[in-house]
Amino acid sequence: MKTLDVYKKLNLLREFLFPLNCAACGRTLLNEAEAWIGLCGECAESFPAGREKCCSVCGRPLISEMDVCMNCRKGDGNMYDSMTLLYPYIGREQRILKAYKFGKHRALARFFSEKLLSALTQDRMRGGKVLTEVPWAPVPPRAGKLKTAGWDQVELIAVTLEKLHRVPVLRCLKRLASKTQKELGKSERITNLKGRITCTGGAPEEVIVFDDVFTTGSTMNVCAGALKSAGAKKVHGICLFYS
Ligand SMILES: [Zn+2]
Ligand SMILES: [Zn+2]
Repeated sequence: MKTLDVYKKLNLLREFLFPLNCAACGRTLLNEAEAWIGLCGECAESFPAGREKCCSVCGRPLISEMDVCMNCRKGDGNMYDSMTLLYPYIGREQRILKAYKFGKHRALARFFSEKLLSALTQDRMRGGKVLTEVPWAPVPPRAGKLKTAGWDQVELIAVTLEKLHRVPVLRCLKRLASKTQKELGKSERITNLKGRITCTGGAPEEVIVFDDVFTTGSTMNVCAGALKSAGAKKVHGICLFYS
């Protein structure tokens, strides 16, 4: 823990010397706690910890009193068993994700991992195992992403979950290049064709797949499909933002 305190102090010093300011409002970051997450106290608090009632299938906020939203009631079967979505991808939310992905606000990985954890704790895994026992699997980056961007924003959240929160992270999902198609077995070929994501080395019985942005849900479905064909019985999904 001592090392962490030193690291926090150095991080504040870095913020004083090369200020990045609050990723949401641009205000000067004043103390260790603010510099640690890349947001001023006011902005950090304005991201609610508690969430409205959400669809138990796709995770989007509900308008009616029912447990399942209109879309899901129509029944486009999803491969995942539950989905937790945190914030709509608009205005300020867009700004902080862009500051994280394209700016230098890497400190936001700490804020994001805290939010993911508290949202999932709140959802209580919908009757599943205790949170700490279920491994988290990051959605793998697109082919060529690491080469062009030099880093992967989801992987940094994975590292933060692992190191700061001792969450078991399983990097079993791999994105395949289509040229490797002929080297694969039949079932892998199908996965490869679907979304070029496969699960390597066997899947755990229950797993939480996480990503930064949820749009159509197709990536989550492909990941859940890959995990289930590798033996997973329950796949939960969680994403920071949804559009
Ligand atoms: Zn702020
Ligand atoms: Zn739904």
